[in-house]
Amino acid sequence: MTTEKGIPSNSRVLMLFGQLEKLNRESMLVDPEIARQITAKVLHLIQTQDTEGDHVQGLQWHGGYPGDFGGGGRRIGVFVSKGGTGILLQLVIRASKESPPSEEFMLQLHSVLAKVGPKDRKFGVKARLNGALNVTVNLLKQNLQNHKLLLPCLLVLQVYSSNTVNAVSLGKNGVVELMFKIIGPYSKKNTSLLKVSLDTLGALLKSKTNAQRAVVHVPVLLYIYQDWHRNDTRHRHILIRKGILGCLKNITNIKLGRKAFIDADGMRILYNTSNECLPVRTLDPLINTSSLIMRKCFPKNRLPLSTIKSVFHHQLLCVPAGGPVAQLYNQPLGVDDVVDESDNYEDAEAENDTENEMEEKDRHAGNDDVETDINKLRPKETHSRPFEELKIYERFFMELSEDFQVFNFDNPKRGVTATPAAPKSHRPIIVPTTQALPPKNPTAAPLQGECPHPAPVPALDLDTINITKDQDGCGDHTHSRSHPGAGLEQELVQGLERVALDGAGPQAGGGGVNKHNRQPPILAGGVAARLGGEGEEMSAEDWAEEEESGEGAVLHVPDTALLLPLHDPDLYVEMVKSTRSVPQFSEVAYPDYLGHVAPTSREHILERVYGVQSPLPPFRTKIFQDIERLIHPNDILDKVVYDLDIQSCTVVDGGGSLKFNSQFESGNLRKAVQVRKFEYDLVLNSDINSNHYHQWFYFEVSGMRVGSPYRFNIINCEKSNSQFNYGMQVLMYSVQEAISGRPRWVRTGTDICYYKNHFSRSSIAAGGQKGKSYYTMTFSMTFNHKDDVCYFAYHYPYTYTTLKMHLQKLEALRTPQTYLRKDVLCETLGGNSCPLLTITAMPESTSNDQICQFRNRPLVFLSSRVHPGETNASWVMKGTLEFLMGSSPLAHSLREAYIFKIVPMLNPDGVVNGNHRCSLSGEDLNRQWQNPSPELHPTIYHTKSLLQYLAAIQRAPLVFCDYHGHSRKKNVFMYGCSLKETVWETNISATSCELHEDLGYRTLPKILSQMAPAFSMASCSFVVERSKEATARVVVWREIGVKRSYTMESTLCGCDQGKYKQPEYVLVGG
Ligand SMILES: [Zn+2]
Repeated sequence: MTTEKGIPSNSRVLMLFGQLEKLNRESMLVDPEIARQITAKVLHLIQTQDTEGDHVQGLQWHGGYPGDFGGGGRRIGVFVSKGGTGILLQLVIRASKESPPSEEFMLQLHSVLAKVGPKDRKFGVKARLNGALNVTVNLLKQNLQNHKLLLPCLLVLQVYSSNTVNAVSLGKNGVVELMFKIIGPYSKKNTSLLKVSLDTLGALLKSKTNAQRAVVHVPVLLYIYQDWHRNDTRHRHILIRKGILGCLKNITNIKLGRKAFIDADGMRILYNTSNECLPVRTLDPLINTSSLIMRKCFPKNRLPLSTIKSVFHHQLLCVPAGGPVAQLYNQPLGVDDVVDESDNYEDAEAENDTENEMEEKDRHAGNDDVETDINKLRPKETHSRPFEELKIYERFFMELSEDFQVFNFDNPKRGVTATPAAPKSHRPIIVPTTQALPPKNPTAAPLQGECPHPAPVPALDLDTINITKDQDGCGDHTHSRSHPGAGLEQELVQGLERVALDGAGPQAGGGGVNKHNRQPPILAGGVAARLGGEGEEMSAEDWAEEEESGEGAVLHVPDTALLLPLHDPDLYVEMVKSTRSVPQFSEVAYPDYLGHVAPTSREHILERVYGVQSPLPPFRTKIFQDIERLIHPNDILDKVVYDLDIQSCTVVDGGGSLKFNSQFESGNLRKAVQVRKFEYDLVLNSDINSNHYHQWFYFEVSGMRVGSPYRFNIINCEKSNSQFNYGMQVLMYSVQEAISGRPRWVRTGTDICYYKNHFSRSSIAAGGQKGKSYYTMTFSMTFNHKDDVCYFAYHYPYTYTTLKMHLQKLEALRTPQTYLRKDVLCETLGGNSCPLLTITAMPESTSNDQICQFRNRPLVFLSSRVHPGETNASWVMKGTLEFLMGSSPLAHSLREAYIFKIVPMLNPDGVVNGNHRCSLSGEDLNRQWQNPSPELHPTIYHTKSLLQYLAAIQRAPLVFCDYHGHSRKKNVFMYGCSLKETVWETNISATSCELHEDLGYRTLPKILSQMAPAFSMASCSFVVERSKEATARVVVWREIGVKRSYTMESTLCGCDQGKYKQPEYVLVGG
């Protein structure tokens, strides 16, 4: 690069720099004239370059502003690198001591500093140390009317202010007030000056003390903003308007600022101005900043609940003092839901999070979490339990001592009908749990022992399903009659409040059966799966009437037997009778009854059109609708239409509101509030015996109008981000669709977004955690069928009853060559059985060799669904079981090579009761493996005991794998445990060289990544985290000594690699 006279520009800069340096060094008596000449040359050099191709000349505030470097940037760089800034700053100090200081020289110096400052990272510090801050400030104060001098000074001030210490110091010096003297209402004059003042003010206001100083000026800023909004009709000064908003944004980072904003009617002002900006695309930045400020200032509110504790309480027989349940219920009344206003800045910080930062944080947290205590990475040697105590678990491992002497190999059919095991195995297997459960209803026939013979029940024939008309919803009743031409299916769903299955008819007198035993009323007589409507029972009289009047109809259940070999509605109803729920559910949801037939085509993931922090139109509309609630409160209906906290749950319908229901297995919806004609706020229930963990939802909606777009807002989500922001949709099941031959969950919903809302809870209620704010997951939905009954869920539901049905049907897949045994490992706190399966191949004969091979097969131990909200873990387990029981050569050879021990559902109670994370003890069971309590965590205690028993008899499994679902990551992947990889991660230098570790733990994930397109080796990790030390994976690795101990995670939302990548698809369960 050359300049005029052909001298390379860098040389010229260096030459001028040398002169300046010399000048500065030489004497106390600088000749101001010489200094000015040299400075002028420097400035000229920089500015000359700027004008070369200066295309921003027309934009007044751009010409010659900091950050605007053309080729001059390089020269400035050279100047800075040689220490030019320091010399300039010293010149400023010297010049300031002249009396009077030369205005022209100051102007020159500041012009150069404005150029050089932004290029020097330490400029702020240097300026402070040299004492230049005050010189500039004083110059400003004395020359408020001298715009020519003001501009470069303000530019330099802006660079000073980007340093926090400087900003505070300048604030103390009255600079915030000074800026408010410069900025003002709309004017065509001095716009560049105004712009720079606003930016400087914005930079200053990042300091909290400065923001406090500016609180009194909030009304002024709002006034000025409106003025510019009104007068800048041609939108030439968007940057000024944005500058004003930037100041407001920073002031409202503090609580006082938010209050001042609300008091000054800021919400209405920004709301109205934003609405007027909507048609002009170029004004998007203004709308976005406005909406950010409005969201931040929206007054915090508690959830519309009397308490955030779960609606349902399960009385534990043993409540450890200091445990989560004791803590929860010892909280003083009213404490849990008081909004804690002490969090001045937390919101502001969170608002500024970009996705990348969040991911960064995640990764960082991960690194902090890596286990660094080498002793905690070494095998735990203590065998805490004596063998005598473990010996009772022998009965779960009969295959290890099986001699097949009673098995008739000549007549293999026996193998199909009876469990091929020694006679002793037919005794019920009772594992003592220290919990003394109340005696069960003898007619309840719970899953006990190996249950090849279910309790005799009258055969259920779908043809005998009685359809009864609604008794309480008289409107619907007459409605259905007045449409004689309506199709049968239509009428079915339309008229029906309830479908009673089985010829046994309804229970007499609304809960009559209930008096005689503790069974849920409808389950005892026959299951009623309800279609919409209130939960009132039919009397026997009503029933008889309906029967006589011939209103009974036949429910057309799609024949899914071929498509769903493990599904059987009759069996489901039979199985549900022994499922125990805390709320004593008496209804069955249609999707669980009818089953889910996966669509043949893959489902596309919604194209990602917006992110969390970039509020493009769909998201913005939602935000604005939320803000309207505050601005036009009279437009809000605020009508509670469903509430589990009140006795009858459903509030009497008063004209066209949707009906909600969640009182069925795995259901979760606590409350529904109609806020506008077609908009509902939904509140999820906490896990039982807890006050949080909301994420899973599953509920029923009916009474919809066709063609109207409904908006649903789940307002108490807890996670700071969600796959719903990345294209995931909610799942919907339409009963109308199902009876038309399409019984399936479909991904649906538009305008889906997930964002922080104005609801919050106290830090005490949040368990001292930071996450006090709630998030809204919102989606819109237009229903296609009149009088439909639809279900919405977070992910494909998989109930405990579904598992029992699948296990029962699985037996039909058994061939004479297959060894399948079902045991009951234990009972849960809620009185449900925890099944344990053993799958392997029968020995070919009773020869010694064969029996020996049979007994000595390595064990593979699998478990799933410790977290109830991760339903995909159950679907993956279902696939595993079907495969292992299947007839493929691979399954055959696997059975011949291994014994599979499987606990398919580690947390049946959580699943039954619609929990997201915990069991009835209010705890995450996958954090209890280190020291599980037989009273509080029986499934974990006994599963661990099985493994301890195996370790004690030297038969520890070859592989242990616990199935989970991942709500944020894509693909299927594994977490394993490696001492070496953990050590590498943390750089514990000591001993790492002596570590010897078999790489076998990588084999299985490697094989999976080669065989399964959804599996991603890159997503796998083998690092042991401190926060995971009590999980199944880590405990089984460390205490049981299983080298191949894994957590297998399956995404809730598609893959970003392999065959299923792009266009992205949602993995379909089932
Ligand atoms: Zn999990």
